[in-house]
Amino acid sequence: MATATCEIYRKVLGSDLSQRVGNSKVLMVGAGGIGCELLKNLVLTGFKDIEVIDLDTIDVSNLNRQFLFQKRHVGKSKAQVSRESALQFNPDANIKAHHDNIMSPDYGLDYFKQFDVVMNALDNKAARNHVNRMCLAADVPLVESGTAGYLGQATVIKKGVTECYECQPKPTQKTFPGCTIRNTPSEPIHCIVWAKHLFNQLFGEADADEEVSPDTEDPEAVGTAGEKAVQNQEKERGSGGIERASTRTWAEEIGYDPEKLFNKLFNEDIKYLLSMDKLWKKRKPPVPVDFESIRKGCDTNEKDADNGLQDQRVWSPDECAEVFSQSVDTLKKQLLTRGEDLVWDKDDPASMDFVTSAANIRAHIFSIPMKSRFDVKAMAGNIIPAIATTNAIISGLIVMQALNILSGKLDKCKTIYLNRQPNPRKKLLVPCNLVPPNPKCYVCAAKPEVTVFLNTETLTIKALEEKMLKERFGMVAPDVEIEDGKGSILISSEEGETDENLPKTLREFHVGNSARLKADDFLQNYQLILNVVHRDDLEDGVEFEVEGDLPEPKPDGPEPAASTALEERENQPVAGDTEEVMVVDEPAPSRKRKADESELQTREQQDLKSSKRARVSNVPADEDDDDIIVL
Ligand SMILES: [Zn+2]
Repeated sequence: MATATCEIYRKVLGSDLSQRVGNSKVLMVGAGGIGCELLKNLVLTGFKDIEVIDLDTIDVSNLNRQFLFQKRHVGKSKAQVSRESALQFNPDANIKAHHDNIMSPDYGLDYFKQFDVVMNALDNKAARNHVNRMCLAADVPLVESGTAGYLGQATVIKKGVTECYECQPKPTQKTFPGCTIRNTPSEPIHCIVWAKHLFNQLFGEADADEEVSPDTEDPEAVGTAGEKAVQNQEKERGSGGIERASTRTWAEEIGYDPEKLFNKLFNEDIKYLLSMDKLWKKRKPPVPVDFESIRKGCDTNEKDADNGLQDQRVWSPDECAEVFSQSVDTLKKQLLTRGEDLVWDKDDPASMDFVTSAANIRAHIFSIPMKSRFDVKAMAGNIIPAIATTNAIISGLIVMQALNILSGKLDKCKTIYLNRQPNPRKKLLVPCNLVPPNPKCYVCAAKPEVTVFLNTETLTIKALEEKMLKERFGMVAPDVEIEDGKGSILISSEEGETDENLPKTLREFHVGNSARLKADDFLQNYQLILNVVHRDDLEDGVEFEVEGDLPEPKPDGPEPAASTALEERENQPVAGDTEEVMVVDEPAPSRKRKADESELQTREQQDLKSSKRARVSNVPADEDDDDIIVL
């Protein structure tokens, strides 16, 4: 059977190419949604020498689309099992499986150099960045791919010839500013994000970035209004009122009394927001509600007897209050029984009831349309369906790209997009020419340099390493020295060697304005020169800025580009389509994400000049191939 199939491919490919395929050595990174399809395709196309690497083990939820796995494989290594299953298609293939992280130092430059082609079937940006750099360093062609729902793409990256994965900053998932969530929601999703944060504050793991109480530092409310609000807060504290610092402690003290919780969240906090009067000059002010009066409406309303429709019907405010009360009781019991923090799960009825009711009461207060439990579940669960056929199509395209590479026809390689709707020429698959490298790319330029604005008197070596070099610039284990002629070492990748430097500031090492730092990641074979520009007027909470980034978008400014990017890709968007692939994100706490967002705006402006460019670069950043994107 297998031999017969290979014979067919030999006839299709011709003896020359089929021989090259048989003699080539390829690496497949990731054995999940795309990887399973790809490995099957590879062995059937006649690839014989294949290495597979994946860190994950098989989960039940994978079985509906990762067809190399069966129920009995749950808990086992994806790499190992995919190897065993694929060998059944072609026992002659030589497949080496690694249950491991591709970012581990075991897979260095020499490892990558042994392959003719590397194929990514990954689901996260960090690993994609890393493999991109390794393939550039080893000068091995890389086929990069991704899917999100019905959308997908496959492209080729070749050092010096095409753009690399990092030549254009990638759109980040849609984010909402903290003050929109806490103070001035205007869309249902803002209330849903708030309700999920509230769940975590009350029952889950506390996260300072998920604060739900009014934000007194809202830039829009500063000035006298802000002061007034702070004074009010002080007064409340003084008079034994609510301590806003810890919602959790307070909830525990009142024994999770649903009525008290309700009145604090939907009455007192709302009144407090109203006292920040600047916020309401151009907005409809919220209307506080209290538990008792909202429940009075309860009897007058007809209840829908048909439970089957409960999920798809929008509850009235009094029903929401009732559901809120019941779900708080249930979750409180769960918390006591388990003795540990709860983790929000869209499939847990009480968790879903809580978020639906709390989000809807808040929406009601802010005159925002309320949503059915069904809709809230889709929006709160960040659901992007993973579709087996999309993965199958994309993995087919990956093999086509690999065949073109192996036959030396790089000019035939394209970036191919799988769209949801046919384009005007009735094509679902749209090829675009590969774009040459961006000479300013901070990864693939000949001598990558970047200018960073930071306060040398306050930025610590630790922040330089963690926030800037690792988070922002994607390094794994950087060494940093000062280009001062002496090569003074700031950070060493050798464990413990420069630990004492971490809490110190750059200034303590005489790094001031116009200093140059050389950051070197040995594993990635990647050096980046940082040109330091001292700034002492950075906004609060901003540790550094990277040249080319635009200032932070205003809370009520234009939408971040994520949805635009998808519309662009869709070519002919259908109303409501973007919602299907909408990724709901929490407000961006980290500088990294904010920086990406700003980059994105720059890029958007550039992209307007060239529609083809826009198509190529407007690619979802993290095309996860999992069914739920958890952020
Ligand atoms: Zn590049």
